[in-house]
Amino acid sequence: MVGVYEFTGGGRDGVLGRVLGALTGGESPAPETARPDRRAETTTENSRVREPQVAIVPLGDVSTRARRGAVEVIQAVYDCDVGVTEPRPLPEDGYDPERDQYEAEELVHLAWTVGPGSKNLALTDVDLYLRQRNYVFTASASDGGGSVLSTNRLREDIDDDLGPGATRAVFEDRVRKEAIHAVGGMFGLDRCKTDGCPMGAAPTPTDIDRKRTLLCGTCRTAIVR
Ligand SMILES: [Zn+2]
Repeated sequence: MVGVYEFTGGGRDGVLGRVLGALTGGESPAPETARPDRRAETTTENSRVREPQVAIVPLGDVSTRARRGAVEVIQAVYDCDVGVTEPRPLPEDGYDPERDQYEAEELVHLAWTVGPGSKNLALTDVDLYLRQRNYVFTASASDGGGSVLSTNRLREDIDDDLGPGATRAVFEDRVRKEAIHAVGGMFGLDRCKTDGCPMGAAPTPTDIDRKRTLLCGTCRTAIVR
């Protein structure tokens, strides 16, 4: 199976664009009937939801603030139910000890496989790379139900003069904007050139600061549910 990957973050030579290639593992996710036990693992922040349209799958240690920020912005921007699963350990197969990074596709594949949503976002604080890209903040399989958001580098390049509260606010703002981007790929959204749109490219953390926390009109009408 070929996955079309949309991502944000840096890359070799700073080149950005769509990356084509195989999804790690190459298998389709198991049908819903084959994984009924996963529903029991799901806690939701919307009490009536059993099978959320978007499920957040924390991998490793993820801050409560990052998790809550992602839930709130995804609910608001995509007008959908969002659930959060119990945290899961990071996949050993995805770790590259020489790089001290995890392979983004492994985490996308894990979220897609274990997540109970029709769209599943892996949320993690570990640093990610994607194929030839030295690092990425997000990666999404736009023809599937998995994506990943790493908060690792979103703490970088914040004005030293800001106090702890303002520094935290910048970080949380970046998490929200990149959550929009990561989930947008699963709603069929592509890289957007509209100024300030969260579906735009962001090679560095400060590029994220220039984004808004709302999709542009073009992206809003392009959402595929
Ligand atoms: Zn847009």
